[in-house]
Formats: sequence, structure tokens, C-alpha cells
Amino acid sequence: QGEGSSMRQFKKSSKLDNVLYDIRGPVLDEAYRMEDQGIHVLKLNIGNPAPFGFRTPDEVVKDMQDQLTECEGYSNSRGLFTARKAIMQYDQLKGIPNVDVEDIYTGNGASELIQLAMNAFMDEGDEILVPSPDYPLWTACATLAGGTAVHYICDEQANWYPDIDDIKSKVTPRTKGIVVINPNNPTGALYPREVLQEIVDVAREHQLVIFADEIYDRLVMDGKKHVSIASLAPDLFCITFNGLSKSHMVAGYRIGWMSLSGNKRIAKDLIDGINMLSNMRLCSNVPAQSIVQTCLGGIQRSQNLLVPGGRIYDQREYVYDRLSHMDGVTVTKPEAAFYIFPRLDPEKFHITDDDQLALDLLKDKHVLVTAGKGFNWETPGYFRIVYLPRKHTLHEAMDALEDFLSYYHQ
Ligand code: PLP
Repeated sequence: QGEGSSMRQFKKSSKLDNVLYDIRGPVLDEAYRMEDQGIHVLKLNIGNPAPFGFRTPDEVVKDMQDQLTECEGYSNSRGLFTARKAIMQYDQLKGIPNVDVEDIYTGNGASELIQLAMNAFMDEGDEILVPSPDYPLWTACATLAGGTAVHYICDEQANWYPDIDDIKSKVTPRTKGIVVINPNNPTGALYPREVLQEIVDVAREHQLVIFADEIYDRLVMDGKKHVSIASLAPDLFCITFNGLSKSHMVAGYRIGWMSLSGNKRIAKDLIDGINMLSNMRLCSNVPAQSIVQTCLGGIQRSQNLLVPGGRIYDQREYVYDRLSHMDGVTVTKPEAAFYIFPRLDPEKFHITDDDQLALDLLKDKHVLVTAGKGFNWETPGYFRIVYLPRKHTLHEAMDALEDFLSYYHQ
């Protein structure tokens, strides 16, 4: 009894039929199986700083502890006033125009708000331009919301910047919005103002809403400055997503936000929808909201990690140097975040299936990377490395990868 074929079977909702979210998929399951068997896996797969010894600043933990007893109830559905006021000021410093406290929504990570925004925005048949490669949550949420994610190419030959001609060629009468992930996951690219300006010009010409995912904006290297795309588009409606997961190493606390900016008059009805969905989830995790003011107003400790002698900077230098000396590997130097997206030369490697590549590397060498396909990137032979682990682990992983590539054939 119980397993019988006469029992009613429960299938997943057909809404999920075309939804892909592979970065936590089958290769990771295999890694967990191996770990259960006592095998030590070198994990270069998830952008979660805390397990690699990047500690949350003490003052942040203390601040949350002190405020915990005040955080027992629901907050305003958009979030605590103090948090939103601090975010508003941060947006002003970034030149994001026309943001009031009422235009800011906190969420359980930016993730919750990406889903919320896509649900409020997309209708059956609507199209939204999403980068390829992308952080796959965007494609998954647009699809789950009933819309269609149309991918525009980011060009490896041009530092992985968005290909403006490709964007233009993908616009149709059904296109309603464009997603810009800057700094980018998985490429680590940081877009210059001129590229952003060209994207704004396309958005202006076709009256698109801009969705700007800027969660890595405080993790920028080489003396570069991050430009918020919303600051270049005061006449358009923009939603900018950000949070503390990466900049303050508190991914587990779950705190992010989105800010509506620019021309809000054209989006009155959409904002009504956003408000309703925000009210429906009551509010985001209140203890995590309570640290926003301290985090944004305090010393930006992550800055020390991003200069020579700092861990993230030095680890990038190391991984980039190793990869660029490997036979048959091409790689673009990332300028932000903590990801690098190398390519295996198709003349040498004939890769047809990224997942198989990642699985073979895992089984042979116990090194876990994420296949390019997981980022909606069609060309095989790419994978993403997270260079957060300490140098000795990266050293071990790079030696293992180099050895693997010396014999690997698919
Ligand atoms: N956006 C990008 C580009 C990311 O890489 C991530 C996490 O890796 C997120 C959003 C989600 O961040 P969170 O939900 O922790 O705020």
C-alpha cells in the first residue's frame, strides 16, 4: 500500500515546465553524494562569502543583537523606516533620481524582490530582454511569471559587455523591459558608462522598463567606479536591486532591496501591483532590516578586500594568472564581484555538454564548478569559478583542473 499505481499521482505545476534553475542542479546533488561518502570536494560553485572565512563585521552582528527584541513584530510591508531612509541616501549618493522612502522595498534577499517584480510586470506573451550569460534567477522568474525571457548576448571579445546591436535586433513589439546585471554574474564584468548609456538609449527608443541588478556594486576592483544605470535614465522607469548579501557577507541573513526611480508616473498601475504583492508577503525578515543603516552608514570593510593585499583581489589575480597559463583555456579578467568565466578552446576540447564536463571534473578531481549552460549560455565549453576560497584551496583546485585538462576529451 502507498506505492500502488492506483494511488493518485501528484505532478508539479505546468507553470514550472519551462523554468530552468540549474545552478543548484544535478552536479551539485552528485557533490553532496560524494561528501556523504566522506570525499572532500573543493567547492568553487556558490557565491556565498561566509563559509570561506569572510566574516560579517562585528559591529553588524552586535547591532542586530541589540535590536533583536524590537524586531518581533511585522514591519511596514516595504520595510523599517530607518532601513529605507539609509537606502534612499545610498541611492542619492549613486545619483539614482527621484527615489523617496516610499519607493524602496526591502526583501528576503534581492531574490524575493526579483520574483515579486517579475510577477507584477510580466503577462502571458510579454517579452523581457535578459543577458546571456545571466544570473539564471531572472530568466526563471520571468518565465514563471508567464512571460518570455529573450536573451541578448554579452560579448566575450569585448570584455563581456552587452552587445548593443544584438539587443537592438532582439526588440519586438512585445518587448516591455530589459534586465541589466552590472557588475555581472557569472562574468565579473563591470560595464563602463558609455555602454550603459547605449542601453539607456535603446530603452528610451522602445519605451522599456529597466531592471538593474546591482548587488555587486560595492565589490569593484582596479580603482574603477560603478555607475548605476538608473542615474542615466531620469526620464525612464527603473527598478534597481541591491542588498547586503555580498557587500557585507551576510547572505544568510536574507536582506536585499529594490528602489523605484525616474519616471514613476508612467508606471502607476505597475506600482499598484508591486504594492499589492508586497503587502501579500506582509514584510521581509525584520532583524535583517535592522542592520541596514549600520551597514550602509559604517565602514565599508569589503573595500579592504578589493585592493592589492586584500583577499578577493589577490585571489582573483591568482586564479586569472593560473587559468590564463593553461593550455587551451581563454579567460577575460574580471573587474568586479568574485566570479570568473573561462572557456575551453573548441579546437582542442570538442565539448558538447557543459554539465558532463562539470560532472567529469567533479568525479575525477573532486572540484565543483558550475557549467556555463546553467547561466543560459548556449555555447558549450564554459564554466564559472567562484574564487572566494582561500589561496591554498584555489591552488589545489587549479592544479587539479590543469591536470584534468591535460587528458580530458568528451
Ligand atoms: N543577483 C545576482 C546577480 C546574484 O548573483 C545574486 C546571488 O548570487 C542575487 C541577485 C541574489 O542575492 P540575494 O537574494 O542574496 O540578495
